[in-house]
Amino acid sequence: MENTYKHNTLAESDITLNAILDLIAEGTWDWNANTGIVIRSPGWYRMLGYDEKSLQENVFTWENIIHPDDYNRVMTHFEQYINGESNQYRIEYRCKKSDDTYLWILDHAKIQTYKADGTVARMIGVHQNIHDEKLAAQEADKLKEMAQKGTMSLENLIKINANELKLKNQQLEDKIKQVALLSNIDPLTSIANRRSFEVELTKEILRSKRYNHPLSLAIFDIDLFKNINDTYGHNKGDLILQKLCRLVSKNIREQDCFARWGGEEFVIIFPEITLENALEVTEKLRSTISQYEFEPNLYISCSFGVTECNSTDSIEAVFQRIDNSLYQAKRNGRNRIESG
Ligand code: GH3
Ligand code: MG
Ligand code: MG
Repeated sequence: MENTYKHNTLAESDITLNAILDLIAEGTWDWNANTGIVIRSPGWYRMLGYDEKSLQENVFTWENIIHPDDYNRVMTHFEQYINGESNQYRIEYRCKKSDDTYLWILDHAKIQTYKADGTVARMIGVHQNIHDEKLAAQEADKLKEMAQKGTMSLENLIKINANELKLKNQQLEDKIKQVALLSNIDPLTSIANRRSFEVELTKEILRSKRYNHPLSLAIFDIDLFKNINDTYGHNKGDLILQKLCRLVSKNIREQDCFARWGGEEFVIIFPEITLENALEVTEKLRSTISQYEFEPNLYISCSFGVTECNSTDSIEAVFQRIDNSLYQAKRNGRNRIESG
């Protein structure tokens, strides 16, 4: 590679580099696998419409904005490259913008350095906006296909009101989103249901293995809830379940997945959290719940089982552990946390 610049000091080259990065309208990213930090250029944020300070500098920011239909394809390609099974990382996919629409980008990156054990230490990449070209190509393919099928004459095709089509597609997409959302949410408490929890947990276990990040899990169950129903009635019981979910949601991070496992049992996934930290968070939850006045003079408590997933864990093994811990917490007097 021929040098465009020759600087006398590091400070001068920093100025040049940052000035160029600031001008590039599209994005660059720089992932340090030792620290987990991903630095993105100002253009990356501008391209997707986000405020620079609004997103965390880690790989989850990237994963969270990938279109769900592109996610598996991107992860497979990424893993093949970092595991040395393919010699280039170059892939087109959609990323979510700040206005919730998706932008087609080309992601192209190269590993820069390796750790002593042969795994990636640093990788640098570029996100290029290819949205207009991609849509134009897709539109052309669609028209070609329709013309080939003979479903429409070319003349009629040209007459199609493109805006009307776009609107219909948008309406259809909105409906699909609504249905998907409803089937993932528990109707009583409006938090995630068991189905979407299982999907999230599978995803998080793969993530924690991919990046070698910790991952913890908690289950909790309301103590003697049958008594509450028997004393105050089922409707009041339902109301307490709803209030409890709001209280817990307020006291966990946005990236923690909180779901209703069934009845009065709930589960929480804590990505990037070790057992020690998960115990701190659940202790805060346990004490907050036990001090909260759900109705005048009505208090409840919960028992917790907590565990950290390890790299060889199956979902069944993880559940066996938190279930046992929850059982122990009940046996040891309730309103407490056990881990294993
Ligand atoms: P433990 O401390 O051992 O968990 O005692 P418990 O009384 O909570 O345990 P048990 O499993 O015997 O009872 C759970 C109760 O939770 C019984 C059931 O009526 C109530 N429950 C489960 N789902 C709902 C619900 O959706 N609404 C209401 N109101 N109650 C529910
Ligand atoms: Mg219970
Ligand atoms: Mg129960």
